[in-house]
Parts: sequence; C-alpha cells; structure tokens
Amino acid sequence: MSTDVRNVIIIGSGPAGYTAAVYAARANLEPLLFEGSVTAGGALMNTTEVENYPGFTDGIMGPDLMMAMRGQAERFGTTIVTDDVSSVRLDGGTKVVVDGEGTEHRALSVILAMGSAYRELGLEDEKRLSGHGVSWCATCDGFFFRDQNIAVVGGGDSAVEEATFLTKFARSVTIVHRRDELRASKIMADRAMKDPKISFAWNSEVTAIHGDAKVSGVTLRDTESGAERDLDVTGLFVAIGHDPRNELLLQTQDATKVALDDEGYVLVDGRSTRTNVEGVFACGDLVDHTYRQAITAAGSGCQAALDAERWLAAQD
Ligand code: FAD
Repeated sequence: MSTDVRNVIIIGSGPAGYTAAVYAARANLEPLLFEGSVTAGGALMNTTEVENYPGFTDGIMGPDLMMAMRGQAERFGTTIVTDDVSSVRLDGGTKVVVDGEGTEHRALSVILAMGSAYRELGLEDEKRLSGHGVSWCATCDGFFFRDQNIAVVGGGDSAVEEATFLTKFARSVTIVHRRDELRASKIMADRAMKDPKISFAWNSEVTAIHGDAKVSGVTLRDTESGAERDLDVTGLFVAIGHDPRNELLLQTQDATKVALDDEGYVLVDGRSTRTNVEGVFACGDLVDHTYRQAITAAGSGCQAALDAERWLAAQD
C-alpha cells in the first residue's frame, strides 16, 4: 500500500487524461496518472494521420500527438504509471485506486478518463487496415476519401449520419446492414433513402476485408441465403456503436456508485465534470455520446482538472 494521500489520481491516458494531467500538474497538484498497459495513449495510438487537431498545419500522426501530450504532462511533474487500474473505491473521503499488482494508491480526488471503445466487426484484417481504409470516425477521416467508393456498416442513427456526412466527399456510399430496414430515426432514414449517392446492401454483413497496404474491397454475405459477393470499396466505416470503458465503476463495491446513463456513459452535472460522487470527476469519451473528438476530449480533461482543483481548494 502506498501511504501518501495524493491530491488527485487520473485514470486514463487519451487526450482527456493527459490534458487533465497537464492542468493538474501546472496547478501543483502533483497528479498520479495510470495510463493503462496495452492501450496506453488512448484511441489515437491506433490511427495514422490526425488532420483536425488544432496547431498542426500539416497534420500529425496519432501516436506522435499522444506522445507529445504525455511528455507535456510529465514535464510539469505528473507521475505516469504504465499499468491498468484493477479496482477503485471512490465513495469515501479518501479514494482508493488499486493497480494491476494489487497496490493501493490513495487520493482526495479522482479524475476518470477511461474513454470508450469503438465496437469492431471482429474480422482478421480490420486492425491491420485501421487507418488504411478502415475507419470508425467519418468526421475524422471522411476528408481522405474524396471521390472514392465507401461502405458504412451499421443501421442506427450514427451509421446513417456517418453515411450522409461521407456523401460530401465520396463518389458513392453503400450502407451495409444486417436487417432489411434501418434502426435509425425516420427523418434520418428518409434523408438517406433519398440521397442519390447512398445505396443499401440489405440483409448483408461484411465477412472479409481485402487489400495489402490499403483497403481494396470487402466481401458481403447475405444473412438469409448465405450467398457471398464482393463490393469494390476503398473505404470501410464501421458504425456499430461504442462501449464506454466503465468496467471499474460497474465492479466497485462502493455503497454510492458513480451514476451512469442507460448506455453506460458517466453522468456529469450540467456543463461541469462533477459526478454524483464527491471528489470524483469524469471527462472525455467516457461521458460523451455526441462529439467524441480528440479536441473535445482534451477540452473536457482541462475542465476536469479545473473542477478538481477548485473542489480541493474548497475542502481546505
Ligand atoms: P481514449 O483516447 O479512448 O483513452 C482512454 C485510455 O484510458 C485508454 O486507451 C486506456 O489506455 C486508458 N484506460 C482505460 N481504462 C483504464 C484502466 N482501467 N486503467 C488505466 N488506464 C485505463 N478524433 C479526432 O479528433 N481526430 C481524429 O483524426 C480521430 N481519429 C480517430 C481514429 C481512430 C481509429 C479512433 C478509434 C478514434 C479517432 N478519433 C479521432 C477519436 C478520438 O481518438 C477520441 O475521441 C479520443 O481519443 C477520446 O479521448 P479520451 O481521452 O476520452 O479516451
């Protein structure tokens, strides 16, 4: 057990966690940050070029951006631990965060920044071609697909929204959906149906992604007949949902648990990052259904550090 009681422990290492650390460290709060083991650095470690993070005229590679944020957090005195937090006890005056070895770390406040995971299709070549034609974010990557043929997998609001957005760039967009009708709201579905650039592969699922260095096509299987066919596309957008990384909050034995919404995202109070548990703040994609961008995650990490700093000052 570590005997020090820190001011703040940050769990998570994407743009939200590292930005919270920069602000907390510069406020002399000497934060301890757990960045995770395998996934340290967050979602942008899995991508190539990031062109929409302000400050980089020519864009920047995702891992380079995250390493720069990490270095900036360290420079001001953040202690970074490359380990997963295995459990938490958050509802007392002193919060307890347990690392992967079972060592307990204590703090007056905790910032939750564990992000959310994009659901994957689970296909062999999906990870390999991520950032090379396979994408989970039209806002981030649509621009790279000008005048190309693209497929979007999914049938809910986000799939239809992504498909509609992609028509600004693409030559054609095929929505691949396992059923014979969309789950998206009627107004969005109607708009997509009327769009001359959008077509539908109903009762279909992607069973293979082709391409060596870049996506060159996919195989679709008819969910009713089992028949397979190839679709020539150079982009595949997977829009089948996200899972906020809330496992620690679901497993905790706390009497008062951090409140989550129906989809498992952490609930915060209004525009703040305050959760229902005193001294516990949450930021980034863990709380965000709507925007899910690096810059919005970084912005809310800043807010969480400022909220924690003010909360700590009020305790004195
Ligand atoms: P994340 O980046 O998801 O980071 C959270 C991290 O916390 C995890 O990776 C893990 O390391 C750590 N963590 C989780 N649980 C624990 C635990 N128990 N213990 C310790 N650590 C833990 N956005 C853009 O603005 N522009 C883009 O071009 C862009 N491209 C993208 C490309 C891809 C392939 C993906 C997947 C996303 C992309 N995004 C992009 C979205 C952007 O990456 C996210 O919105 C952003 O990373 C969210 O930041 P976050 O800090 O909330 O969480």
